[in-house]
Amino acid sequence: MSDCLFCKIINREIPASIVYEDDRVLAFDDINPQGPAHVLIVPKRHVATLNDLAQDDDAMVGELVRRAAAIAKDRGISAGGFRSVFNTNRDAGQTVFHIHLHLIGGRSLAWPPG
Ligand code: AMP
Ligand code: ZN
Repeated sequence: MSDCLFCKIINREIPASIVYEDDRVLAFDDINPQGPAHVLIVPKRHVATLNDLAQDDDAMVGELVRRAAAIAKDRGISAGGFRSVFNTNRDAGQTVFHIHLHLIGGRSLAWPPG
């Protein structure tokens, strides 16, 4: 997707602070962090929202979630706790339409969210 911000980060057309990369997944620091740790974990393949996932994507979604847990461990926030969330469409405030798992932690987080 030539006009997708996260595809541009994946293709190195826009810089980012990259935390992890493999053949299928990229993770980078959020530009507007909501906590001491705020990392976005994205699939390299463009998928706009969770509504666009297919059964074939189950393994990829699992990789995103497991990578979030691994990065949380690296950042030393596994035991203390962290939030991992996908925002989907307007009511959840999705602004970038390439699925991304937010990993937020390093501080106490309120629940329920706003
Ligand atoms: P969402 O509102 O769930 O779509 O989240 C989009 C996230 O992308 C927000 O937390 C933004 O701060 C973040 N973001 C936007 N542009 C960039 C960028 N160039 N590099 C890193 N994170 C970004
Ligand atoms: Zn994209």
